[in-house]
Amino acid sequence: MSRRPTANLTESDPPATAELDTIKSLLPYLWPKGQFEMRARVVVALACLVMAKAASVYVPVLYKEAVDLISGDKFDFTVLLWIVVAYGMTRLGQQAFAQLREFFFARVAQRAIRAVAIKTFRHLHRLSLRFHLDRQTGGLTRVIERGTKAIEFLLNFMLFNILPTLFEIFLVCGVLWWMFDFRYAIATFGTIFSYIAFTMLVTEWRLKIRRRMNTMDNRANTRAVDSLLNYETVKYFGNEMHEEERYDRSMRSYEDAAVKSRTSLSLVNVGQGGIIAAGLMVVMALAGGDIASGKATVGDFVMVNTYLIQLYMPLNFLGFVYREIKQSLTDMQQMFLLLDEEQEIEDAVDAKDLVVEKGAVRFENVKFGYSAERGILKGISFDVPAGKTVALVGPSGAGKSTISRLLFRFYDIDDGAILIDGQDIRSVTQASLRRAIGIVPQDTVLFNDTIYYNIAYGRPGASTAEIEEAARLARIHDFIISLPDGYESTVGERGLKLSGGEKQRVAIARTLLKQPKIFLFDEATSALDSQTEKAIQTSLSEVSQDYTTLVIAHRLSTVVDAHEIIVLREGEIAERGNHDALLSQDGIYAAMWRQQMREQERQRTRKRTRKRKWRRTRARTRARTRARTRKRKR
Ligand code: ATP
Repeated sequence: MSRRPTANLTESDPPATAELDTIKSLLPYLWPKGQFEMRARVVVALACLVMAKAASVYVPVLYKEAVDLISGDKFDFTVLLWIVVAYGMTRLGQQAFAQLREFFFARVAQRAIRAVAIKTFRHLHRLSLRFHLDRQTGGLTRVIERGTKAIEFLLNFMLFNILPTLFEIFLVCGVLWWMFDFRYAIATFGTIFSYIAFTMLVTEWRLKIRRRMNTMDNRANTRAVDSLLNYETVKYFGNEMHEEERYDRSMRSYEDAAVKSRTSLSLVNVGQGGIIAAGLMVVMALAGGDIASGKATVGDFVMVNTYLIQLYMPLNFLGFVYREIKQSLTDMQQMFLLLDEEQEIEDAVDAKDLVVEKGAVRFENVKFGYSAERGILKGISFDVPAGKTVALVGPSGAGKSTISRLLFRFYDIDDGAILIDGQDIRSVTQASLRRAIGIVPQDTVLFNDTIYYNIAYGRPGASTAEIEEAARLARIHDFIISLPDGYESTVGERGLKLSGGEKQRVAIARTLLKQPKIFLFDEATSALDSQTEKAIQTSLSEVSQDYTTLVIAHRLSTVVDAHEIIVLREGEIAERGNHDALLSQDGIYAAMWRQQMREQERQRTRKRTRKRKWRRTRARTRARTRARTRKRKR
């Protein structure tokens, strides 16, 4: 039996190589195969990005022209006006191209998010029951939710903030080199590069402080809550001071971490400011020197200054963006890890659809355990002949429901074989296998939707008349139409607005609507009162007549007519035969039967006594009322 490792969903930082891999895994979604429109959008968005940045680099050049014109001796107002108009238009163009880029790219980004989310969702449905039982559903949905948000954040900031800024840095350096000389380019590049490196390094260090701060905050909170929940215990032992000290210890650590976090932020700001100031001084000194030697103009002096300021402005939030990008990469990696999770039960390469003619089921020496250490079924063999009913009974934990899960192939068996009409269920497709079997499970869970939806789930596309007929057979139709909203009544989360018996009847209707070839009733009527149970039993036997049926039952009275009754105990068949044969064996079954009969008799007696008491009380009350009325009349 394969026991595969599962995705680790902890919140630690992924290694740098994993971060790159995560970004790489996203790329195919941004350049989707066969989707011409999406690819065209990416190309246009990139073109807009280049145009926006080109405009943004051209703005200071126009600014320089205007300054040179004003400070020079050939001042011409008309020319200045043209420069000013061009300056305004270029600025507008920069904005317009940036918006156009978002306009074209928004659909690509959202399509990528949708594609990843759907792929993960589909994959989760393919993963085994074992995987789902090991995980909390809330945790899984949170992974998808965080993962999709992370993609959105990454695309927004990486594509529209970080990458364009890097592009602009190179563009500006190129322009400076071309207009002046390499010194300007190196000074600008050096300044911005130092700014980025410094911010990233300090942010890494600050991340540790912030994590400590969060841990301390959580600890202080937990201590406070725990102490207040244990209010009585604290008082019994007179330990108020002890509690206060414990709380204060956590608060003190939090205080230290918070102060460190705040002061480290100041350090970041001072450091960043220092780097930019140094950069500005260098380029301005260079420009000043060139003005002195007549190689540069006043406009050039203003321009180099503007370039540097313009470049570092978008990097103002680099610390925050860097932190968020790191978190987003972790979230995204968690989601992609889910996608890497291997399917435990897979269709064989040459799997064919199950062909059910008669629907005979055979378990051949089946051995199975949920874990390698503990065997649950220890070599079970039985037949459910086509069109017959076989019942599985036995004490709780004997492995009855396990047999139904194995028939559905939620798990693969360790040894032996399960055959339907002679075909090993491992050699057929899971979809065709599950189509052929209809189950009413022990614990019915319904979708948080209408009753109509929940019954129709058995066979999407069934007509209203068919749905109502199924509900009638499951003895739930009258109840449904007595509700104010009838079939449109919602059942609440997991069907909690319905009683256990009502839920079970909806589940029965749903399975009847499916019209499977093989029925599996796992204590399908256990939540019903005996009268409704009898009525439903009649409909179930009517509907499943001539169909192969496997019934798992606790109440033996529901299986007396079964073709064969198999008594399971600790994963082995302890007894088998029909009801009469098992009674005459006088073994486990006979003992269970006698006990249930006694229990039934006791319940009946209790009911009768209650009825008698109620009648007596009613008679007494009536007599008293009559006496009072007579008295008043007198
Ligand atoms: P009941 O009548 O109470 O429903 P059952 O005969 O149907 O009992 P099963 O549900 O088949 O019993 O369980 C058989 C044994 O397998 C039990 O001991 C149970 O604890 C164990 N078991 C069931 N499901 C799992 C699981 N997913 N992982 C590990 N052990 C499990």
